[in-house]
Amino acid sequence: MIDRFQKKTHSLHQTASGMSFEIDIWEYSPPGATQCIYLQGGLHGVELTGIPVLMRFMKELEESQYPERIICVPWSNPMGLDSQIMGQQTGYNNLHTNQQNCWNWNRITHLKDEGSLEGRWISTLLELSEEADTVLDLHTAGYETIPHVYVHHSQKELALDLGIPHLLAWDKPSSSFSDTCFQRGQKALTFELSSSRTIIESSITFGLEVLRCFFGFSKSNNKTQVWNQETQMLKWYSPESGVICWHKNSGDTVSQKEPILTMFSRQGEKVFQSPYDGILLLKNPIHAPYQYQELAKFLVP
Ligand SMILES: [Zn+2]
Repeated sequence: MIDRFQKKTHSLHQTASGMSFEIDIWEYSPPGATQCIYLQGGLHGVELTGIPVLMRFMKELEESQYPERIICVPWSNPMGLDSQIMGQQTGYNNLHTNQQNCWNWNRITHLKDEGSLEGRWISTLLELSEEADTVLDLHTAGYETIPHVYVHHSQKELALDLGIPHLLAWDKPSSSFSDTCFQRGQKALTFELSSSRTIIESSITFGLEVLRCFFGFSKSNNKTQVWNQETQMLKWYSPESGVICWHKNSGDTVSQKEPILTMFSRQGEKVFQSPYDGILLLKNPIHAPYQYQELAKFLVP
């Protein structure tokens, strides 16, 4: 008999007009499985690459007749995915229904016992993933990024041979989905596969290759550099306001003497040098920053 993924649809809630938000849970349960792996995509609604990666990877798992149990939720946040304002995706936060705040969809596991829309949604995902030994949460980051992965320092071996250029090892858990899974005793990785809000074929290929390496279908020769998230990932806040043009790409090595961007303001044109010696990890979407708005993140030795 051939094992295949079976889909179940779970209803989350309805909008005022009676439209239903639903998530599909794809489950693959070969007899004799001793491990369970939970795969999730699209937790932030603007982070798209994980969705096609998981849709294609499910086919590869079926073709290989992978011997372990898999629970796969590629479209984990329909509310986030459907959030846009005038053609711009805004699905990092719930802007719609809560007047007290606009929750970051990946910082709300503390709401799991609350009967709110957000609480019910995140508790659904936490319940679906509860039996898994391993949780892989596929995200993307920034306007432009070099791929990286977040993992508790005690589990970094899990992510060293997947062909991901940078690993950020953390110590203190946040209220993110996979940090919460880690605190339940699971192996838990948060991947940042590509830039947000966009899908290109090469990013899908990269994401698939990462999963193939994780599942032992492939091997990577690319080295992964390990960084301490708490001390070595530094933000850069715009020293002045204006409109900016970057001179470096994410992933580039930069030094403090190097021009990194030009800022055009009402006072004229000015070149800024890199604030750090290190690697430009990601650029934020804003190209017309206010003074002190976050522009980018760096990895600093
Ligand atoms: Zn994310």
